[in-house]
Amino acid sequence: MSSNQSNIRNFCIISHVDHGKSTLADRFLELTQSVEKRKMKEQFLDMMDLEREKGITIKLQPVRMEYTLNRHPERSEGSVTDSSASPQNDKDAQNDRYILNLIDTPGHVDFTYEVSRSLAAVEGAILLVDVTQGIQAQTLANLELAREQNLTIIPVINKIDLLAPLPSLEANGVGAHARVEETADEMSQLLGIDKKDILRISAKKGQGIEEVLEAVIKRIPLPKGKLEKPFRSLIFDSSYDDFKGVIAYIRAIDGEIKKGQKIKMLVSKAESEIIEVGVFSPGLTKTQSIQAGEIGYIATGLKDISKCRVGETLALSGQKTESLPGYQEPKPVVFASFYPAQANDYNLLKDSLAKLKLNDAALSYEPESSEGLGRGFRSGFLGMLHLEIVSERLKREKKLDLIVTSPSVNYQVKNEKGNLISVSSPSDLPEANQIEEIKEPWVSLEIITPNQYLGSVMKLLKSLRGDYKETKYLSAERVLIEYETPLSEIIIDFYDRLKNISSGYASMNYEVNDYRPGNLVKMDILIAGDKVDAFSRIIHQEKTFSEGKTLVKRLKQVIPPQLFSVSLQAAVGSNIVARETIRAMRKDVTGYLYGGDYSRKKKLLEKQKKGKKKMKQVGKINLPSDVFLKVLKK
Ligand code: GDP
Ligand code: MG
Repeated sequence: MSSNQSNIRNFCIISHVDHGKSTLADRFLELTQSVEKRKMKEQFLDMMDLEREKGITIKLQPVRMEYTLNRHPERSEGSVTDSSASPQNDKDAQNDRYILNLIDTPGHVDFTYEVSRSLAAVEGAILLVDVTQGIQAQTLANLELAREQNLTIIPVINKIDLLAPLPSLEANGVGAHARVEETADEMSQLLGIDKKDILRISAKKGQGIEEVLEAVIKRIPLPKGKLEKPFRSLIFDSSYDDFKGVIAYIRAIDGEIKKGQKIKMLVSKAESEIIEVGVFSPGLTKTQSIQAGEIGYIATGLKDISKCRVGETLALSGQKTESLPGYQEPKPVVFASFYPAQANDYNLLKDSLAKLKLNDAALSYEPESSEGLGRGFRSGFLGMLHLEIVSERLKREKKLDLIVTSPSVNYQVKNEKGNLISVSSPSDLPEANQIEEIKEPWVSLEIITPNQYLGSVMKLLKSLRGDYKETKYLSAERVLIEYETPLSEIIIDFYDRLKNISSGYASMNYEVNDYRPGNLVKMDILIAGDKVDAFSRIIHQEKTFSEGKTLVKRLKQVIPPQLFSVSLQAAVGSNIVARETIRAMRKDVTGYLYGGDYSRKKKLLEKQKKGKKKMKQVGKINLPSDVFLKVLKK
């Protein structure tokens, strides 16, 4: 169908993690018959294996749907009064057939950059709130992002099928119906809107879905670009294809673009000829052109990945047009290094990181080398989950066997000459006697919890080095706690601990504020007497004994026995703060197989050989390459 702009609506679904975005998207896909029935599966838009396994959305995912609005005059949508867009939307629509471009987004705090990039490509957002959870930390954070872009918000309460009273809430005498009303109250307060504008649905059972699409069509403004103007578009995501080069995911603002035309990037100045244009339906599907207001892709043919970045304005060669605002570079909060277990995989790692960055714009990295580990890359991430996902993707998609070093935050170090050095790798920290002061990043931490867990949350917060700020009531049942703490206190396992003590109900969000001086030292790990840089970390003076002890204990669990006994030591300077020993083992793994079962013996030896491949010689001993991440997990 033709894409008259008045028939286009572009929107995202945003929420806290698990509130049902991808499930709601499933219902949209079904209702609009965008996916063949036999191909349909739950959380269809979670297309990566990793997303399906973990049950979370990691990547933004665009999809184009076509939908004919059935007019139901009796529905409340017709009488919406607060939406200035609605009368105009009705008048301009030439028929009742609409193109709906949806972008499904992740909800986890580490993937906020995916959300903010999606929001810049649309005019409206469905804000989904799980009725059993209420407003949570990323509900607020993502709403804030949507407001910054001046998007129209459609508030939706999800999971109303879960009407059986919840045990934890029942204890407070909160019935199911009351819970829906309470959530509606919270939302109307938060958004400053009338309760009757809040839709109530079950994404899982398919209740109320048509009403949501109707609200999308009636409340969200039309795209405002001009078809007559020179073509320009915002690149909001990308991927790489060996034949077609960089595939730019774009939101067309003005004009029209077709296959074969010459394009240019306004910032990198790269030019090339388009190989293909198309839309997401939801797979890449070729079309004749992309016009103002549409969301689609352009296969650029560019092989030089650095020439096509997200946030770029993509335009036609030889036409004058202004570049779009683009995106702010995300600020990494956690740093760790990747080293290939086999030194000759270095180039593969380099190439893989470049290609992964196309698909994960929040990833940053630079080359680094270490005495023990050889050549690798120091990379920056938006959090521990981001780090975990990136290393997992490198392993799976690129078949890379990797060593990942202990994650660290960034420090500002003043040396004895008064110079400031930025240190994000413990091995770059100057000797203790050359340090005047170390400053570490502090965050404002926001925790939202149901009232009944307030006590346990406060207790957990007391275990951090930090300062309590204040408590605000979002409603009678829900509290927002503001706290300030060093970033290093919360990046590793704080989120899990918070979930544990609150039966999963408390949620958190944080933002790096400033750098403050801390009593920090470097702790090294010596294995069989050799310092292994990859395990070094910068920690608070008071925690050296407890952390040192935990670390060597965990190392003992994850390092397999060697042919000789191996000492494990944690040291601060020349002070040994903790030690353990791994006892020696026998060499021949088949030794205990008495008798002459040759094939079995061969199998075992082969297994041992395979196992060896995943080892890395560090000093005198062989370490399995996954030791480094394993050590962090409890
Ligand atoms: P997302 O993280 O926001 O994309 O959430 P998902 O769509 O992945 O859903 C998270 C979980 O909630 C899944 O187990 C869904 O089956 C479940 N879920 C989503 N919507 C509903 C609903 O309306 N009712 C019920 N009972 N469960 C739902
Ligand atoms: Mg999802």
